[in-house]
Amino acid sequence: MRWEIEDTAEQAAFRQEFREWLAANLPKGWMDAVDSGDADSFEKVRASSGFNPFAWTGTIGRSRYAAPLWPKEYGGLSGEPWMQQVIRSELVRYRLPTVAINLLGVGLAGPTIIEHGTEAQKERYLRKILSGEEIWCQLFSEPGSGSDLASLATRAVRDGDEWVVTGQKVWTTLAQFAQFGMLLARTDPNVPKHEGLTYFILDMKSPGVEVRPLKQMTGSSEFNEVFFTDVRVPDANRVGAVGDGWRCARTTLMNERVALSGISLDPVSFAGGTRRDPWRSFLDSVPDRSNPLVRQRLAQFYIETELKEITSFRASSARARGQQPGPEGAVNKVFNAEYNQRRSSFSLDAHGMAGVAWLAGDRDAEARAQTFLRARANTIEGGTSEVLRNQMAERILGLPRDIEVGKGMPWTDIKRN
Ligand SMILES: Cc1cc2nc3c(=O)[nH]c(=O)nc-3n(C[C@H](O)[C@H](O)[C@H](O)COP(=O)(O)OP(=O)(O)OC[C@H]3O[C@@H](n4cnc5c(N)ncnc54)[C@H](O)[C@@H]3O)c2cc1C
Repeated sequence: MRWEIEDTAEQAAFRQEFREWLAANLPKGWMDAVDSGDADSFEKVRASSGFNPFAWTGTIGRSRYAAPLWPKEYGGLSGEPWMQQVIRSELVRYRLPTVAINLLGVGLAGPTIIEHGTEAQKERYLRKILSGEEIWCQLFSEPGSGSDLASLATRAVRDGDEWVVTGQKVWTTLAQFAQFGMLLARTDPNVPKHEGLTYFILDMKSPGVEVRPLKQMTGSSEFNEVFFTDVRVPDANRVGAVGDGWRCARTTLMNERVALSGISLDPVSFAGGTRRDPWRSFLDSVPDRSNPLVRQRLAQFYIETELKEITSFRASSARARGQQPGPEGAVNKVFNAEYNQRRSSFSLDAHGMAGVAWLAGDRDAEARAQTFLRARANTIEGGTSEVLRNQMAERILGLPRDIEVGKGMPWTDIKRN
């Protein structure tokens, strides 16, 4: 990371401790090659080491460093938010993935279970989330309920010690690989929409769950439609009280904003595996850097990259004061999403015709186009930029609240599309 606050003695000691752990767990020569600044010698070490990013997420997941804020008894360090920042900066420095393959488990399900789950649920699920043994998905959005999530229609009806779930979800990322899902369902349709929801842990292999992958414009299938036909969920899998699902879901959503605001074109992502210094690679990838207009744009991206880092630090210092992720998560998420779109669009522009048409096998050109297409989703997933701006207007600027149709009315009486 290019922007750094000088470490306190405690932070420097923790950084050293984490470096020692990296040295003991990374292939021989890896850190020295990065420290030497010679991209070719690093590439040689990387290629010959057989480094496997999937196995690596398991290694770090079992080490306590993947979730330093989680309690010690469930695989974390019971630590401080600055520890996360130190770990992330070391991962970026040593060209390691900063995003777990089980992003939704580590970033969303884990914090929700820690805050609202029973001891038995914490014991059963948290460690396997960190080790990546059990992948999670988020079963919230439905065809008629995205931004207005609390209007959702999937029903859960109690039957003794079980609940019977019927309905449909959509945009469910990783559902095709997931063992468990965070399910938000309507348990009481006769009260106002936010009050009739309950939060469950759903075993994705339960009879009656059908997952249908959707193809995106990038050509891949990240997300799915998920159908439930009389799916039985034990009451022991309920998170929080009956009717308290909205409060639990808010914990998931706040943490989602923080998790997604950490994803950018710069840090070494899981999908991208290990690469060279990300900012340097970006600069090197831009042709015609002597063009004054190109230089202006690059300088602007540099300013924005610095701003992104500073805003992240502000968000983590709010958490250091013991606060739950709040509206600053929305600021970060909107800024990061729009930055990704501006930068991926610039990368295509900078290559002129080659940005949109290339010879088969040109992997750099393919990657640029993929990044551009995937970035379109950034301003939609995890809450759209419009809806997050509404939140900032209300919660940070104190402006009048957005109009809420059907406020206080029973869910059954509200007109839905
Ligand atoms: C790549 C990707 C992955 C996703 N993964 C998941 C997942 O794993 N699990 C999950 O549950 N969901 C997931 N989602 C769904 C995502 O959360 C929703 O798409 C998002 O909340 C928007 O809902 P919607 O698509 O129904 O759009 P709508 O809510 O129908 O919005 C349509 C348009 O209206 C605007 N709008 C709506 N309400 C307002 C308002 N009050 N003020 C101003 N403008 C408004 C929106 O900004 C948008 O432009 C994913 C989405 C994407 C793109």
